Amino acid sequence: MYELTNDQKRMLTEKVLGEKRHEFQSEKYLKGYGGQPDLYQFRCSCGVVFRGYPGTSMYEREVGEHRNNRTFTTWQDLGDVMSKMIETRKWKEFWLFSYTEWPQTQESFASDFVLWLFRPVNEKGKPHFCRLVVKFIEERRK
Ligand SMILES: [Zn+2]
Repeated sequence: MYELTNDQKRMLTEKVLGEKRHEFQSEKYLKGYGGQPDLYQFRCSCGVVFRGYPGTSMYEREVGEHRNNRTFTTWQDLGDVMSKMIETRKWKEFWLFSYTEWPQTQESFASDFVLWLFRPVNEKGKPHFCRLVVKFIEERRK
């Protein structure tokens, strides 16, 4: 179904998990001295500032590793988000909410609900469990 927006991913990362999300914020070139090439600088939303020469393997590796944000499509993400929901005592309410979202049929068993709910991604490869959490939080706010 849906992809998560950047705002929704930020909400899951920062409000639910209490982690920092890394997003490109500003960039500029610092004048190189003594024949050195200009130094590129970019600031991450977490506050970290990178300076270096884009294209070099060290720079790309450092920046790449730093900006390794959660995709909310993995078992790890599902488990971490679920743990937080339990910790903050939202699990029971979320479970009941999910049940109302479940496309139940006459032939459905309760076990089918469990299989439906605990999927990192849906049949289209889009976030499933974490998207339900987002929907749950957004509906609670209304
Ligand atoms: Zn960062």
